Amino acid sequence: MLCKDVVENIMGYIDAELDYETLNELEKHIDMCPECMAFVMTYRRMLELTGKLKERTFVTPEVRNRLKELLRSKLKS
Ligand SMILES: [Zn+2]
Repeated sequence: MLCKDVVENIMGYIDAELDYETLNELEKHIDMCPECMAFVMTYRRMLELTGKLKERTFVTPEVRNRLKELLRSKLKS
């Protein structure tokens, strides 16, 4: 799994909707990749801070795209 795959699957990961194999691969990658670890932490904390963790509607396509852009720009630097 690559960093971009983590980005693609972040929503499923947070929502615990990934299949077992994908979840396994993703966690393996996060363990080895500080960038993705930080990304997951940041994302999760952002949801917790806004108190919207359980509200699916919070994760609009716009939020999704913004997060992807955020990680992409981090990966480039
Ligand atoms: Zn990564």
